[in-house]
Amino acid sequence: MRIVFIGPPGAGKGTQADFIVETYKPAHLSTGDMLRAARDAGTEVGKEADKYMSAGQLVPDEVIVGIIAERLDEPDCQAGYLLDGFPRTIAQAEALDAMLAEKNTPLDVVLELRVAEEELFNRLAGRGRADDTPDVIRQRLVAYREQTEPLLKYYTEKNLLVTVDGLGTVEEVAARVKSELDIIAG
Ligand code: AMP
Repeated sequence: MRIVFIGPPGAGKGTQADFIVETYKPAHLSTGDMLRAARDAGTEVGKEADKYMSAGQLVPDEVIVGIIAERLDEPDCQAGYLLDGFPRTIAQAEALDAMLAEKNTPLDVVLELRVAEEELFNRLAGRGRADDTPDVIRQRLVAYREQTEPLLKYYTEKNLLVTVDGLGTVEEVAARVKSELDIIAG
């Protein structure tokens, strides 16, 4: 399966992504993890990305699209993948569409994990990652609302969007995710 996984910061996307990877064994392409690894390794891309990440802003589209384009060509992606945290803007979604059209490998589903914004702030404030100070949290939520939420309409129009309610225990949410993905996996 080729899956795009969309959800605001704090929705529990990382936990559910791990569940999806364990259950369906797609390659796991987390752009947040890739950028943190590049930052920790001190590469040029990592240093550049850190300026945006530490401010709660999205890194420029060209940077992230280049990373994903290379990654999708690797052998482990040929049997399917979970795109976790990408695309995050309409420009990224259009770039992805162009790449996939060229390879003749359309997406199977875009899964949205939905949690109300008041709940997200409370969850994020309790998490304690370096980019989780109140100002940065607020900025990340703004980036989601303004830049990423438009993707929901974009993928609805392509008949790809499936929304799962992210409120509840990890197990409850995982069961919802599974029932949707089982339909698509056939
Ligand atoms: P995440 O772990 O997915 O929340 O990503 C952490 C940070 O990495 C984000 O706040 C952004 O600064 C950056 N990032 C991750 N994925 C993307 C993307 N697709 N486009 C732009 N920035 C991204």
